[in-house]
Amino acid sequence: MKQYLLALDQGTTSSRAIIFDRHGQTLAKAAREFTQYFPREGWVEHDATEIFESQLAVAREALAKSGLSPADIAAIGITNQRETTIVWEKATGKPICPAIVWQCRRTEEACASLRRSGAADLIREKTGLAIDPYFSATKLAWILQNVPGARERAKRGELLFGTVDCWLIYNLTEGRVHATDPSNAARTMLFNIHTLTWDEELLQLFDIPAAMLPEVRPSAGSFGETTLLGASIPIAGVAGDQQAALFGQCCFAPGSVKNTYGTGGFLLMNTGSQPVASKGGLLTTVGWQIGHEVSYVLEGSVFICGAAIQWLRDGLGILPTAAESEALAASVPDTGGVYFVPAFVGLGTPYWDPRARGTIVGLSRGTTKAHLVRATLEAMAYQTVDVVDAMRQDAGLDVPLLRVDGGATANNLLLSLQSDLLGLPILRPATVETTALGAAYLAGLSVGVFESKEEIATLSRTDRIFEPTLPEGDRAARLAKWRRAVKAAIYFGSGEI
Ligand code: ADP
Repeated sequence: MKQYLLALDQGTTSSRAIIFDRHGQTLAKAAREFTQYFPREGWVEHDATEIFESQLAVAREALAKSGLSPADIAAIGITNQRETTIVWEKATGKPICPAIVWQCRRTEEACASLRRSGAADLIREKTGLAIDPYFSATKLAWILQNVPGARERAKRGELLFGTVDCWLIYNLTEGRVHATDPSNAARTMLFNIHTLTWDEELLQLFDIPAAMLPEVRPSAGSFGETTLLGASIPIAGVAGDQQAALFGQCCFAPGSVKNTYGTGGFLLMNTGSQPVASKGGLLTTVGWQIGHEVSYVLEGSVFICGAAIQWLRDGLGILPTAAESEALAASVPDTGGVYFVPAFVGLGTPYWDPRARGTIVGLSRGTTKAHLVRATLEAMAYQTVDVVDAMRQDAGLDVPLLRVDGGATANNLLLSLQSDLLGLPILRPATVETTALGAAYLAGLSVGVFESKEEIATLSRTDRIFEPTLPEGDRAARLAKWRRAVKAAIYFGSGEI
């Protein structure tokens, strides 16, 4: 039986390909960056053709490096930057305009007007999302409105829409399959997460012709075959990047949570077979679908996480490298009473305050840069505590531990502080490529390389577990101070002082 899985990890700045064996071990990988376009203030675009070509090139490169024959690959799994919106011609497969990237803010006004129209409750109820330019619906509506002839052509069935997963599948199958999975569909703001179908009422609201939408198939399922890699290989697993990371971390049980510490922080909690509506500013979305079984998730984001360390390095110049934050912060026993709220672009979950700004409180004559660096690591941890607390309250689920990945998890001090401030064990897995691994697992499950999620869970290897040592009373006292510092950041931004 074929034993190897090829994961295509199409990210915001690079396309990557990784080949895994049936034990989840990496055999070969390749990555390529592609062009970012910023045509106007707040606009972000990609060239969809370049996305596909770079993805195909790295898939071929990884295969060549692995020394395997294409026929050894049992299946392909795809994971991708979410929400990015692409429209192309059915007849030629050519995009009609640049891809509008999830980060692009061009539809801010459209979103403000939607909110004014009172659509927020309907949208949240059906899609689990808050109205925001991130999600695909207003981007797609923008294309239909602004690309000459697009709406008429879409109505005549001449144009197709897809998120990046769907675009890759369409191109890999040379136009034979136009399909996506529920974890990606759920990010469009057109998909009803309860019925798992495109929502008629939302399609009308955004004036989107149903004919341009892809078919939605289970995340571990059949998305056709590609012959572009030298053999006929099934595409059998698809999930958006954050959901794939949750799967790659084996967060299969309700109450399991992962945090990715990158530029920002992305937290997802598996809530089981029922969607949980949030009161705490979290999004409700689909994790994955395997057969008829759907796992829902709560999602929260921290806007500035590792980016605060970048600011210490590049903005203040007090760190030569991000990695040196660990030794400098460890040179002092505590922050000396300093709290840093890195609300550079406002605050995300659970505060949702766009006007809040970065704030440092508790400075004294004795404060040194080491205290500030330590306060920055603590801020990354406190912000994570706030999101996990919101998740626990919304879902009413017990969280046994936090699984972590992302670049900043190389920092052991960060993870011990996280454990102390959260009061839970922190688990760092041996494989850092959790996103690609999740896509490979889904594909492997679909074609029978793995029999069950239980079997996959036995493959997961732990690098290290960080146990909490801080007494509960001290933890509560420090959290209370952090929340006062957050109030200061919000109060200052509100202009009410
Ligand atoms: P992204 O995928 O968002 O670009 P990565 O997962 O590559 O991010 O993580 C990079 C981020 O992590 C940067 O913001 C960097 O400042 C931070 N970072 C990297 N190494 C460390 C470290 N040892 N300690 C603290 N932060 C770190």
